[in-house]
Amino acid sequence: MKFKIADIAKAAERKPVGYYQDVMAHGKVEGEYLVLSVDNFKKLRLKYRGESVMGLPPIMTQAKTLSKAMVDFAGSGFKKVSREVFDKRMNECNKCEFWRKDALAGMGRCMKCGCSGAKQWMPTQQCPIGRWGKEA
Ligand code: SF4
Repeated sequence: MKFKIADIAKAAERKPVGYYQDVMAHGKVEGEYLVLSVDNFKKLRLKYRGESVMGLPPIMTQAKTLSKAMVDFAGSGFKKVSREVFDKRMNECNKCEFWRKDALAGMGRCMKCGCSGAKQWMPTQQCPIGRWGKEA
């Protein structure tokens, strides 16, 4: 199976850190293409399964996450965390491989759960990989 290396590099911009190196290490370069065996292609697809082409979770997962976040937020009386807690959470996101600070017109976006930079204000929310927790 042949893939343009430029396309892999472009996709890597929205994938977890190390994606490009990982994909390249599984194939053989032929000019501007990377040749992957079917087995390696399947391995990589399995490893990055659950992420769309843009590196985000599937749209239905994002919709469920967002609607649960909004229900929980409403249930909390639309309370926000303190500025200190928000800054601590953002500090973790800024160090995280899944955070894209320029996404959503500069609001930022977590590529793991698909949430925007508003999530860090909500006491009922938590990081999907455990870097910060609820404050409820
Ligand atoms: S919410 Fe968690 S996984 Fe998402 S960017 Fe922040 S620290 Fe990373």
